[in-house]
Amino acid sequence: MRNTDSDTTPDRFPAQDRFRAGAQYIAGRLTKGTSGRTHAVIDPATGEEVFTYELAGHDDVDAAVSAARAAFAGWAATTPGDRSNALHRLAAVLAENAEEFARAESLQCGKPLKLTREFDVPGTIDNTAFFAGAARHLQGQSAGEYSSDHTSYVRREPIGVIGSIAPWNYPLQMAAWKILPAIAAGNTIVLKPAQLTPLTALLFAEACTKAGIPDGVVNVVTGSGRDAGERLVGHPDVAMTSFTGSTTVGKRVAETAIATVKRLHLELGGKAPFVVFDDADLEAAVNGAVAGSLINTGQDCTAATRAYVQRPLYDAFVERTAALMETVRIGDPFSTDTDIGPLVSHAQRDSVAAFVDRARGYARVVTGGEAPGGELAKGAYYRPTLVADAAQDSEIVQSELFGPVLVVLPFDTDDEGIALANDTPYGLAASAWSRDVYRANRATREIEAGCVWVNDHIPIISEMPHGGYKASGFGKDMSAYSFEEYTQIKHVMFDNTAVAKKDWHRTIFAAR
Ligand code: NAP
Ligand code: MG
Repeated sequence: MRNTDSDTTPDRFPAQDRFRAGAQYIAGRLTKGTSGRTHAVIDPATGEEVFTYELAGHDDVDAAVSAARAAFAGWAATTPGDRSNALHRLAAVLAENAEEFARAESLQCGKPLKLTREFDVPGTIDNTAFFAGAARHLQGQSAGEYSSDHTSYVRREPIGVIGSIAPWNYPLQMAAWKILPAIAAGNTIVLKPAQLTPLTALLFAEACTKAGIPDGVVNVVTGSGRDAGERLVGHPDVAMTSFTGSTTVGKRVAETAIATVKRLHLELGGKAPFVVFDDADLEAAVNGAVAGSLINTGQDCTAATRAYVQRPLYDAFVERTAALMETVRIGDPFSTDTDIGPLVSHAQRDSVAAFVDRARGYARVVTGGEAPGGELAKGAYYRPTLVADAAQDSEIVQSELFGPVLVVLPFDTDDEGIALANDTPYGLAASAWSRDVYRANRATREIEAGCVWVNDHIPIISEMPHGGYKASGFGKDMSAYSFEEYTQIKHVMFDNTAVAKKDWHRTIFAAR
């Protein structure tokens, strides 16, 4: 990683001029949205406008779906090897432009360059390399004579045009998670990123074209959820909706999608528990809780949000976690001294602050609970916050707030710790902290979540699935399991007897 001079670089994102030509990527070209409305992308670190673009309207969504539909037959007919080669080239284009991606992501989200350079961008390149390999390795049951008179086999086929909707917290990775398995399996796609954060999805689509992926295979429409999003989800020529975002919006998306009987993949909210048993390594748990709750300024669907700590360790955990949180450096995302940046927007910061302010009525704010002043006052910053003494059924324990806030609660028995961990509507991710293999193993079995870490919290890898249980949704991103979402299975059955009157016909016209 480069040691940056970027603190003083005025042009933080050189590519932005290109998108003044338009921020819709349809059939391999940038065009202007035709909704008649514009959106200003704001740098959340400063509150200053980065650039303004014309939002997509229904016509733009329709044009993107048409382009994807037109490209489908040709792309679906490519061999797995062809698609694999294209994705290998894409990984190379992404690697060549890694710094541009990192800067664009930092600028639009307020993420520290340290995070975008070391996590968002390399993670996306690795996902791309993974799907380049996985494209050649689609699995299925073997062909055979499951009836002695027939040969059966399955074809694993692409579904058609995928309509994907993504959130603002990891715009580049979410674009990659949606686009890569879809196109690796031979589908074409229209992606709608969050209107707050369109830049890296557009850069990703451009990179697809540079890698030689045909026009129309990957399209990006940047518009609002209510307008462009609803149109995409309801579009009759879209065969599947893949949505990542909040549970509230996900329910609405599901209702819209079912009217045209679309396949659905929903990656929704989370409220991940972090369960510390009394034999845990306290230092590891404290480090893990601070890093796991503050990653991406807490705007991570798998972030540690509820720490349940067994009584003997509870007081020490609270004290040490608060002390470590106070050492975390908040500041300019473009400074390499910064640990965490602002939230994605002033509205998101205000929403988080309101959750904490309401909690003051029933709980104790141990540290944080305020926006920093001075130099940082104009940005969407909020201090790392630890809240204690909240009841299990209180809002701050039950609701996803998506900010740098950890709630800590004590428990007595192992049964109670696991029950509390399961006591929210969500089930995306969780962690268990213990040095006793039996205790940890029990927690991995009994915690209801799509991912359970033991003695860590946050890491993800391309080869393993990501997705929710319960109100956190269904379907998997990344890994070979994602092909279950983005392909459909056809049973093909050949008669082997070559006789005109089959044996089974006796059930219909045996006597004749
Ligand atoms: P959100 O408010 O649910 O929005 C997600 C996306 O849906 C945005 O692109 C939004 O567009 C669009 N949208 C809004 N209303 C829509 C509608 N009626 N029809 C179609 N699309 C619509 O979520 P967010 O605030 O962007 O992101 C935070 C949420 O995402 C959190 O709940 C978090 O847990 C979840 N998340 C989940 C995962 C996971 O893997 N499970 C990963 C990351 C984030 P506009 O915003 O442009 O209007
Ligand atoms: Mg939202």
